[in-house]
Amino acid sequence: MGKRAIFSGVTRRAALAAAVALPFAAPLAAAPALAAEPIKVVATTSMIADAARVIGGERVEVTALMGPGVDPHAYRQTRSDIVAMTRADLVLWHGLYLEAQLEEFMHGLAEKRRVVAVGESVPADLLMAHDDYENRYDPHVWMDPDLWSHVLHGVRDALVEADPEGEAVYSANTAAYLEEAAALGSYARGALATVPDTRRALVTAHDAFRYFGRAYGFEVIGIQGISTESEAGLKRIEELVDLLVERGITAVFVESSVSDRNVRALIEGAAARGHEVAIGGELYSDAMGKPGTYEGTWLGMIDHNVTTISRALGGAAPERGRLGRLSSES
Ligand SMILES: [Zn+2]
Repeated sequence: MGKRAIFSGVTRRAALAAAVALPFAAPLAAAPALAAEPIKVVATTSMIADAARVIGGERVEVTALMGPGVDPHAYRQTRSDIVAMTRADLVLWHGLYLEAQLEEFMHGLAEKRRVVAVGESVPADLLMAHDDYENRYDPHVWMDPDLWSHVLHGVRDALVEADPEGEAVYSANTAAYLEEAAALGSYARGALATVPDTRRALVTAHDAFRYFGRAYGFEVIGIQGISTESEAGLKRIEELVDLLVERGITAVFVESSVSDRNVRALIEGAAARGHEVAIGGELYSDAMGKPGTYEGTWLGMIDHNVTTISRALGGAAPERGRLGRLSSES
């Protein structure tokens, strides 16, 4: 009771920090400024870290475990990841079996720390079934801004739970971010509608684009399945070469977080059959671009993918994307 009274008007975090910093005789009036120390958030993928930074603003300090080009299907926690997660106020991961190698660790951690699988904020009836496992879903929900909006709400709720005093800030930031997400969604619909009907097939290194295909009317063909853990065999490559030749598909896409070996095998196989196929560009599938760049944000990542796909397949998206901010062709 005593403490509560003394610290009334002070945030609980600041109060605790002050209590720790000034254990005994120091006069409370001299307690340092009352601004709360940011809460420590650790996020697995860069897309989730981005959401936490935008929504959390100055109230949070976010660490992403996976940087550009890192494949979440295969990622295993390092020693320093474990230290960061055990010290965090909040750990956000995707779930839906995306971070397959982290599952066991996360379930263990959840018994001791605040751990939230924010990918699971998407209602199950909007999820697509996983091809290889029963009772599992395709985790690649960040590819469709409408689906990702559910995850943004999930991140907001997790932050509010961890830091109730920040609710107004988190809600305002989420509302602004949702507006951007909606604008991105309408840009995507417009830019992708300009791709001719005969060219609405998206061939990529792995099956990360099924939600994208569902949202924008593309047939999607991944050389590897939903997880990169399953290897594409020679037979699969031969089947796909047949398909490229038969369908007259002339562009395929590499991904920033997956080796381009299979895509190149496909192009060579088609060339051997006298069918020329080009690389339509590099897409950000399971990781964003470099931190500090536009493509290193979720908004920029999706803008890049939409714009690259539209232009490579005969559509009319503007060269530099929705906001004119995309770096020139990579
Ligand atoms: Zn993936």
